[in-house]
Amino acid sequence: MRRKMLGVVVLLLSLGLFAPSGMAQSFDIVKVADGVYAAIGRAGVASNGAFIVNKDDVLVVDTHFRPSWAKDLIAEIRKITNKPVRYVVNTHWHNDHVQGNQAYVSVFGSGVEYIAQHTAREDMVSKAIPSVQDQLTKDVPGRIARTEKMLAEGKATDGTPLTDVGRTNLSGRLASDKAYLEELKSIQIALPTITFERSLVLYKPDRTIHILFFGKGHTRGDVVIYLPKERVVVTGDLLTNGIPFMRDAYPSQWIGTLDSVRNLDWDTAVTGHGGVQTGKEQVDRLLAYMKDMVAAVKDAIGKGMTLEDAKKSIDLSKHQAGFPAYQPPNPPGFAAASTQAVERTWAELTGKIPN
Ligand SMILES: [Zn+2]
Repeated sequence: MRRKMLGVVVLLLSLGLFAPSGMAQSFDIVKVADGVYAAIGRAGVASNGAFIVNKDDVLVVDTHFRPSWAKDLIAEIRKITNKPVRYVVNTHWHNDHVQGNQAYVSVFGSGVEYIAQHTAREDMVSKAIPSVQDQLTKDVPGRIARTEKMLAEGKATDGTPLTDVGRTNLSGRLASDKAYLEELKSIQIALPTITFERSLVLYKPDRTIHILFFGKGHTRGDVVIYLPKERVVVTGDLLTNGIPFMRDAYPSQWIGTLDSVRNLDWDTAVTGHGGVQTGKEQVDRLLAYMKDMVAAVKDAIGKGMTLEDAKKSIDLSKHQAGFPAYQPPNPPGFAAASTQAVERTWAELTGKIPN
């Protein structure tokens, strides 16, 4: 039960549903090199972005759940430069990285180019766009109804009475959800105008921007943005401060992809979730975890175990201390993420995931 509840909380967090309404600032802007900025999503916004100020224009990486948050980022960019945003790169198709796309064409006009790996574009069409409809017609109204019921009855879903803090949090979530529901009505994800297979390089007057695909990983179409002069990489969800969300992942192939990202020449990583990372400690921790996890699943399959038995017997706890995401107040998040990782790896290795 506890694990189930935790899963719900993780899901809600991943959907950006704990955002307080009327937030003064959606992002912490962190300068990581001359002209290169991380946009770290504050509580509720959850997903990160980045922007690169070139001689004549600006390139933005990822656009968050809401066009209004993308507009908040545009306001932050405006504090630093008046140059127009000409490129938007989507690191992958997930809704929390693409749903704000339309803000850029609405502010900067039809000259904005949207760039993604070609399978990410396919998945935006076949998965992200339908999911906007599902959120609008089912998911968000359902959550609003559940929250209203909890507030009306003064009890959480497990029957425990609401504390004052709990009530305040739920009221905040309700207001945020209602604002999001309004916004969903007009979300039309702007699709990539430029796609590529392995790499795309922008030769700007003052820097070279590499957009690179190294293989399947967090999804089938993740790209990283690599700035060799600045020694910076923007990783999307191939690297985060925890075990990245695995629902659409190819965990065994992710290891090779992540190794390639690791072996680029960089000092600073702007990741999809969590703070800016300096050095390769965290990517090495994730690689060590992934290698152990995949090896354990392979071993369990080799021994003829069932998935349920494998989930019970695989112990990855020695890795837990290495992830900032699972320090207080969220230590149990590690077990939930590991269970999902084992399930997804099992599916990949037993041929249950269509390629
Ligand atoms: Zn993602």
